[in-house]
This record gives sequence, C-alpha cells and structure tokens, in this order.
Amino acid sequence: MQLIFNTLNKKKYLFYFFLLAIFFAFYALIVSQIKYRTDLKENNFNSFLESNEFNNIKEHVLKNLNSPYKEYSYTVENNDTIEKVLKKYEIENSDINKIASEIVKKKLSNIYAGAKIKIVTKQEKNNNKIISLFYPIDAITSVKIKRVQDEFSIVKTVLKLKKKEVVLSNTIKNNLYSSAIDAGIEPNIIVEFANIFGFEVDFQRDIRTGDTFEVYYEQYVDDDNVVRNTGKIIYASMFVNNKELSLYNFKYDKKEGYYDVDGKSVIKTLMKTPINGARLSSSFGMRKHPILGYNKLHQGTDFAAAPGTPIMASGSGVILRAQKYKGYGNYVSIKHNSTYVTAYGHMSKYGRGIKKGVRVNQGRIIGYVGSTGMSTGPHLHYEVLKNGKRINSQRMKLPSGKILSNKARNKFEVDRIKIDVKLAELRRN
Ligand SMILES: [Zn+2]
Repeated sequence: MQLIFNTLNKKKYLFYFFLLAIFFAFYALIVSQIKYRTDLKENNFNSFLESNEFNNIKEHVLKNLNSPYKEYSYTVENNDTIEKVLKKYEIENSDINKIASEIVKKKLSNIYAGAKIKIVTKQEKNNNKIISLFYPIDAITSVKIKRVQDEFSIVKTVLKLKKKEVVLSNTIKNNLYSSAIDAGIEPNIIVEFANIFGFEVDFQRDIRTGDTFEVYYEQYVDDDNVVRNTGKIIYASMFVNNKELSLYNFKYDKKEGYYDVDGKSVIKTLMKTPINGARLSSSFGMRKHPILGYNKLHQGTDFAAAPGTPIMASGSGVILRAQKYKGYGNYVSIKHNSTYVTAYGHMSKYGRGIKKGVRVNQGRIIGYVGSTGMSTGPHLHYEVLKNGKRINSQRMKLPSGKILSNKARNKFEVDRIKIDVKLAELRRN
C-alpha cells in the first residue's frame, strides 16, 4: 500500500517538474516576441488603448467604480407614459422625443401599471443619454430599445406560448371564488365559470360548504411553464343542491355555447340574477317600506352590491326606457319578447350606448349599481313583468334553453365522448 503511494507521489513530482519546464519555455518565447514587437512599433501601447478589448475592460472597471453608466429598474404607475418615465431620469429631450415618436408610430407605446421598465443611461456633462430601454406592453410582448450612435433600434419580442389543457377542482369552503383561487384557477376563468352557471345556480343562495366544482380549460404557458394567458372553458361541472350539473362547450354552425349531457343549452331566456357578486337583500312580497314606513307589496327583488357594480341585461331584447322614472331613479326597462319585460332601478349611471330603442344581448352591461331615486343605499331593484304584471323573478319558471337535435345532436354526442375521454386522462395526471 505504502509502496504504491510513494510511486504515485514520485510520478506527481515528475509531472509538476514537466509543467514548470514547459512554462519557462513559453515565457522565454513570449518575452522575445514582445521585445521584437516593441522594437517594430513604438506606439503599440497606444493602439492597445484604443482597441475594443480595452474599452470593454474599461467599461467593466468603471462600472464597478464611478461609472457614467447607470442601470435603473422602474415600476409603472397609473397614467405613466414612457415619455413621463424618461423625464424622471433627466434624459436629454432629443432622446425622449426620438423614442416617443418612434414607439407611437410602431404602436409600442402602451404600458400598464405594475410593469417593470429597465433603463440604462450614460451621463454626459449635465445630460443623461439613453443607452438601452426594456419594457413589456402586455403579458407576452416586450420592447427592447438600444442606442446605435445617435439613433435607436427598436425590437419587439413576442413570447411563443404553448397551449396546455388542465383540469382543476376543489371543494367549496367559504365561497366559490376563494376556493377556485386556492385550486390555482385564474380569476378570468372563475368569472367565465360563474357566467356559464349563472342561469342554473344562484351563487348567493344555492351554494353550501362542501359543494364541489371542476373545470377543464386551456392555459397558454411560456418556455418556463408560467401561465401567460387562458383560453376557453371546455367543460365545467358543479355539485350543488345534491345535484351534479356538467356543461360541455360545443360549437356547431359557427355558434358556440354550453350544453348539458342531454344536449340542452344552458342559456335561458332570462337570468335570475342579472348582477355578479351581489347579495339578495329584499325579496318579492309584503314588507315595511324602508322610506315610506308602511306595509307595501315589494314588487321586485333587491340585490345589495357595491356602488358601480355592473348590471347585465338578463335576456336579449330592446330597451323600452333608459331615463329617470318615478321613485326608481335612473331606470332601464327591456322588452324581451311578447310576454316578458325586465326593469332595473336606482342605477348610478347607464351602460355605454344604452338608450331607448337599442337592441341588447343577454349579459350586456346596461348600467351600474347606485342609490338614485327612492333608495336607502346602493342596490339594484330588479323586476320581471309577465304580460304586464310584476312577478317574483326568483320563483319564475324559466322557459328552458333549446335542445340540440338531428345532425347537431349527433355531433354533440361525438364531441362529448371525446371530452369525457380527455377529462379522465387529465384527471389522472
Ligand atoms: Zn326594491
């Protein structure tokens, strides 16, 4: 053992000696070369000072000492523009003007609050010059601006996203929203999910702790598997009121919608609750009027909600009235067909383009929650009139959605089976 070790050591010394010999040989060679070159050209040293390599080294050293180059990271605030941001760093006006006009021309000037801007400047006398600028304009697009002498090169980069399908589910603890967030579902998918079930489920009253939901939808991810965008909901299911309701996305004849297992469309002629995130605060029936003080039949349903909450048309139809009306304050009524009219009171303001005679689709924003007219606080007063008579909107038997038939039904059955197979596969992951 010892013998082997000694032999190894001897070999090691020999090896080091060999390295040293080589090193001295090279050293001698280099010294003679330098001497030869110095003789050849006296200002060799100066030319080295002017070279690119030296400038790179200089830049690096200066950066770590007292460099004229500075790098900033800025978080965009509300109402910021690139121009405004650059002014904060005392960038010279000619640079700002050049960049501002170029990015407007190229439609790359939109920035959004919370976005991070990276700026590299160079100080010259009293002014700062832009060396480079980097900022995102949306979730997948960013802009890189670099100084090239006295001009700027502007390059737009769009992230390549991959479509991915996911199935996420959860049991409801407090409310649908927080349980969906806990499951990792993006907020816009939650809103879409609530819209799809808006005709079937009253989110204020039907949901109990322990109810479950599942959603199968599209995500768009970047190379780091970060979700940058979401696509459509392919399938959604809820277990509420001891019933399971599953809805499938189906497209036929350029029309897209959600249908249950029997091929019945989820869209009914009228919504029960034409507002999201509201609480039913007073139902249809006799009550002591909060302002008049005596018992009176409340001929509508009240939904308490924050001022400014959007109010939707509960069905498609034509606007009958969009103006102040009696104790209703700002008021909208919609004629849906020969039987049904709906009305909405106490709005703070009307939705864009909402006026008498305008045709609206179901879900269109017709106004915003307020407290105008005879009202004690912000709420929506919602009425449904059947043949001119006010009825209880929460108890009405809604005409059901259309049922797919013939060719459409056959295609739906095939598509539904495909979705079920994919679902089973994705659930296993
Ligand atoms: Zn009311």
